[in-house]
Amino acid sequence: MDDLSLIRLLNVFLDSLEDPAFVCELGRDLQPGQCLALNRAVSRWLGQSSSELYGRLGQMLRQGRPAPPEVAALLTQEGQASLEVEVSDGQGNLLAVSLVCRLLRAGERTYLLCRTSLESPRQEAGLQVQLGERIMDSLQEGVAVADGQGGLLRVNPALLRFMGLGPEQTREQSLEWLLSRFTGLDFQGQILPSLRAKALWRGAASYPLGPFPGALYQVSLSCLLEEAGLISHYVALFSEQSWDCTSQEQLLHLAHYDPLTGLPNRTLFGERLSSGIAHARRRGLGLAVLFLDLDNFKTINDSLGHTLGDHLLKAVARRLLDCVRAEDTVARLGGDEFLLLLQDIGNPTAAAMAGRRVLQALSEPFQIERHELFVSVSVGITLFPHDGEDIETLIKNADMAMYRAKEEGKRGLQLYSPSLNNEVNRRLVMQNNLRRGFTRGEFLVHYQPKLRLSDGQVTGMEALVRWNQPEVGMISPLEFIPLAEESGLILPIGEWVLREACRFTKDLHDAGHDHLSVAVNLSTRQLLWQFDLVDMLQDVLAESELPPEHLELEVTESVIMRNLEASIATMQRIRALGIRISLDDFGTGYSSLFYLKKLPIDAIKIDRAFVRDLPHNREDVAIIQGIIAMATSLNLQVVAEGVETKEQMDFLRSSRCHLMQGFYFSRPVPGEDMDDILQQTNAA
Ligand code: C2E
Ligand code: CA
Ligand code: CA
Repeated sequence: MDDLSLIRLLNVFLDSLEDPAFVCELGRDLQPGQCLALNRAVSRWLGQSSSELYGRLGQMLRQGRPAPPEVAALLTQEGQASLEVEVSDGQGNLLAVSLVCRLLRAGERTYLLCRTSLESPRQEAGLQVQLGERIMDSLQEGVAVADGQGGLLRVNPALLRFMGLGPEQTREQSLEWLLSRFTGLDFQGQILPSLRAKALWRGAASYPLGPFPGALYQVSLSCLLEEAGLISHYVALFSEQSWDCTSQEQLLHLAHYDPLTGLPNRTLFGERLSSGIAHARRRGLGLAVLFLDLDNFKTINDSLGHTLGDHLLKAVARRLLDCVRAEDTVARLGGDEFLLLLQDIGNPTAAAMAGRRVLQALSEPFQIERHELFVSVSVGITLFPHDGEDIETLIKNADMAMYRAKEEGKRGLQLYSPSLNNEVNRRLVMQNNLRRGFTRGEFLVHYQPKLRLSDGQVTGMEALVRWNQPEVGMISPLEFIPLAEESGLILPIGEWVLREACRFTKDLHDAGHDHLSVAVNLSTRQLLWQFDLVDMLQDVLAESELPPEHLELEVTESVIMRNLEASIATMQRIRALGIRISLDDFGTGYSSLFYLKKLPIDAIKIDRAFVRDLPHNREDVAIIQGIIAMATSLNLQVVAEGVETKEQMDFLRSSRCHLMQGFYFSRPVPGEDMDDILQQTNAA
């Protein structure tokens, strides 16, 4: 946490105490220094303004009894000390007052919390915890505290009030969830980088789905660091915007419009929808809410740059405005998400027609600078009063329908139906099952060998996780990894796979196959969001005693591109441990060639989409040969994935591809079977 927010939090903390209390810095010798924060009771008590007191309180402590060296000794031994000080009551009288002073540590620094000693020692003992909770509960400001992985630990009553939720509704949720609800920003892409760079992120927020749709909040998000520099907690403070810092008009605008496109933001959309509903109710009309999401915006943004991405969003906004009527509302939710409110739409057919108009309008290419860009969108539609009667339900339904549209293949349109609701419930049930399955040990790791094309030797294998659910059977990672990502369970699962894989490989080494290396897949969250990733890796290596150069991590291009700088930084730290990194699913992203040189990687894995039609598809032949030539010139190893036929293998060999992996040689197999495979190839 930076000094300012620390002091701010301290002030709030102290003001919630009734008795005089203040906090001073302590020097290395535990000598009291400058006062950092004090509560109003201190000024009342001493009859002086707080600005006069800041300089004086430290001095008062230094002149107290016992003398500073003795106080320092007490603090070292017991963590607290009682101190007798003399204070002037402001009318020239000196009073002797007892203070209880406790040592506080925050990172490398130490502070002294001093209070007049009115409480009994027993109460004093539970002070920190109890007070911490009481303070949070008494604050007007909303506070959320999350652990180092971003899981919410506590949301105070004020914040629950802003959201109109009960405590159970935020249980098991993440900070990412909370902040994206309030800010509409992409946590990974837009908040985390600044948080990492400055240990602080500030922004404006609102919560149109709650009871105060027009309210604007200022959020400051900071992190508490442990001694090793790891993040132990996140603290998010939501204060209601005060009106004195900017002109009211400016703030009102800020609070209601998206600065990039000039469209209404989610707050204003909430207000318009609310009055739209009231109006429709009075006149017995219906209305439609459309949730719109660009399918390929991320790719465009990442590959062609944010400036161009911004231009594109503005152009999309203009087209959307062109295809609705004046009384309708087009809003931007943030990122590439838009909401449309269409008045006076009575039935699903009319709504679907409106949706198709939107798709049509966006299907023409966009001319941005020198690029001709095609965007594809997914649209979810819901109707008032047909599907829901309040803002929250309508937006949620439209969102759900949009998701379904995306799942059904992009560029689609989907009307809300109650079965979609079931779909969402099904996901929740799945997430619970997943958690239970993991704790019950239903997960396995299979291994798929990688073969050196020049001599047919197995050089290593990729670890692929499996979920063997007793009632259902084997479930594909393609199905449960996204769920695990969504619920945060990917972190323990990922760590478990890694431990398994390293232990397994070390056993193979001990059995005489000490040239083998193992590749483990890293998920988005692990690379971008697991702050102790590098330490964890180090730990796993130490525990398994596998030499680091025999561990390889597979990272997909799309994950890296989500946050290039942060990814590169983490990858560099990983490689500094001696671990290799390969770029998975190579060729499926946009920007591959351009970035390849910049990335700290050792190998690329050509996606099986390019291998499938070899050697007959001339385009794929050219692409593969190009990739191999270029990667080789950059000193990268090249692995071809998804090799299913002898023809493909022969072609790859003659093209000087280094390694291959695929069903032709072996499917992913349980660990026990790897032994046989190794025996056979060694014998051959
Ligand atoms: P991936 O990293 O691209 O893994 C390769 C996938 O291709 C595996 O699917 C593998 O079974 C399949 N495959 C291998 N050879 C062939 C072939 O010749 N033909 C065809 N059609 N497919 C082949 P799997 O095991 O279902 O894994 C799917 C994806 O799930 C993986 O794609 C990876 O992204 C993810 N995944 C698997 N295990 C883990 C894990 O432990 N952690 C994380 N984060 N992701 C994992
Ligand atoms: Ca992989
Ligand atoms: Ca792959």
